[in-house]
Amino acid sequence: MNTNPVAIMWFRQDLRLQDNPALQAALQSNVPIVCIYIWAVNDHDQWSMGSASRWWLHQSLTALQAQLTKKNHALVIRQGDCLSTLQSLIQETHATHVYWNRCYEPSRRTEDLQIRKVLHTMQVMTHEYNGSLLIDPDQFTNTSGKPYQVFTPFWKRYLLEHIKPTNTSIPADLPHPGTWPDSTPLEQLHLEPTIDWTQGIRAAWTPGEVGAQQQLKAFISSRCISYEQDRDRPDRQHTSELSPHLHFGEISPQTVWSHLNSRLVIEQRKSFHLGTAAVLRQLVWRDFSYHLLYHYPHTSTQPLREKFLHFTWDHNPTALRAWQKGLTGYPFVDAGMRQLWKTGWMHNRVRMVVASFLTKHLLLPWQRGAEWFWDTLVDADLANNTMGWQWVAGCGADAAPYFRIFNPVTQGLKCDPRGEYVGRWVPELATLPTPWIHKPWEAPPLLLAEHGITLGKTYPYPIVDHQKARQRALAAFSALKHESEGAG
Ligand SMILES: Cc1cc2nc3c(=O)[nH]c(=O)nc-3n(C[C@H](O)[C@H](O)[C@H](O)COP(=O)(O)OP(=O)(O)OC[C@H]3O[C@@H](n4cnc5c(N)ncnc54)[C@H](O)[C@@H]3O)c2cc1C
Repeated sequence: MNTNPVAIMWFRQDLRLQDNPALQAALQSNVPIVCIYIWAVNDHDQWSMGSASRWWLHQSLTALQAQLTKKNHALVIRQGDCLSTLQSLIQETHATHVYWNRCYEPSRRTEDLQIRKVLHTMQVMTHEYNGSLLIDPDQFTNTSGKPYQVFTPFWKRYLLEHIKPTNTSIPADLPHPGTWPDSTPLEQLHLEPTIDWTQGIRAAWTPGEVGAQQQLKAFISSRCISYEQDRDRPDRQHTSELSPHLHFGEISPQTVWSHLNSRLVIEQRKSFHLGTAAVLRQLVWRDFSYHLLYHYPHTSTQPLREKFLHFTWDHNPTALRAWQKGLTGYPFVDAGMRQLWKTGWMHNRVRMVVASFLTKHLLLPWQRGAEWFWDTLVDADLANNTMGWQWVAGCGADAAPYFRIFNPVTQGLKCDPRGEYVGRWVPELATLPTPWIHKPWEAPPLLLAEHGITLGKTYPYPIVDHQKARQRALAAFSALKHESEGAG
């Protein structure tokens, strides 16, 4: 085996060649590089990768392998725990340096600490970079020296920063070792399901760095212009749909930021507003969620606001199942849940409405919703998912107040005025005109018959009455408020 110095580039949630700070640094070391991806299955980790994400990972690794092969290089794939896999590879290759981009999930941080320690005892240098956030989560504190819990000052702090990619060109050449270490065939990781349910997901996405770049380009050249006014409309494609690409690190947030920012400069010169600033803000929400998870690592399972620890959630497996399957009888909610099941993604506004329905209308714990999203989303991301669910349930940072209970009918009428979104995902209602498509139980019986709809048979009756459910939720949440006021 090779006895010349070798550097290991450990790919994790940074499955790209462009603007990859760890890869860039490894290249600058001017020694042969061995690229590795380690599939570490940890069945004890509640947040081990969900089914839809595994599918994405398979495609993304395939894409990265293809890119490296084109450069006459390779991606070594191994399965096992990260530390012992790295130790073996170091012994096999005589590597003296390991490069990686940081992950911020609590379990990964603990693991990295251990890896760092052990590799240093082996006289191996470790080099870590920020490759997935605009700014590292420990860079800022609020004016009291504490982590931020409110978004607006966090956002304003970001506006003072000069954010740019470290390197925008794809490395021309990757020096490779004389001999390649063994690699496990990707298929042997069994990331793809044995029974193929991925048809809808496959049709909707192009995982990989090239797919990510195309998505950004398409967004900037067309949809970005109307983002601010139309971003809450799920009936058309108005948002960037970059979330899974960002999660797997197929594109860096700095790259997205700098493309948008240069657009913003042009807009200001032309003095018309294209909604670009609104997307930049969403990218900072993403960093905000990491800031929260980093400083409050317990929040992936527990509420940030402690008083919610005592909240009495309901336990109703039948209602949970109806919600998961998109059979609640509320068309806008059901459309969202079916879009999620078919494509592995759901529009942000609809995520808020379905999450509110689960936690407020059904009074089911936000953790059950977060788990379902975790398994079914292609962009499942511990920081974003935790913050999203806690925000809607009212138990997180800068959260929606408890009395904000989305009305699924008025949300449908407002965000999907022609009923096209519902029609696409709930085809049994597709021909029903608005407003009835959003509230079929109020439609004239003759109209339902004309459209072949029999409530309770072809489409369910609402599983809860909106007004009653709202009153029940308000009572439950305000009791919590009074209790804690009394206790305080
Ligand atoms: C209950 C709930 C659960 C969620 N779970 C996830 C999740 O697991 N993974 C995930 O990536 N997002 C999650 N979100 C946030 C948001 O819904 C998605 O990021 C967004 O819908 C992705 O679509 P897009 O790429 O078109 O976003 P765009 O509107 O185009 O925004 C650009 C990027 O900014 C980031 N972003 C946008 N909105 C948010 C937000 N509210 N919070 C944090 N980052 C944001 C995303 O990375 C997104 O790709 C959740 C939101 C809610 C309410």
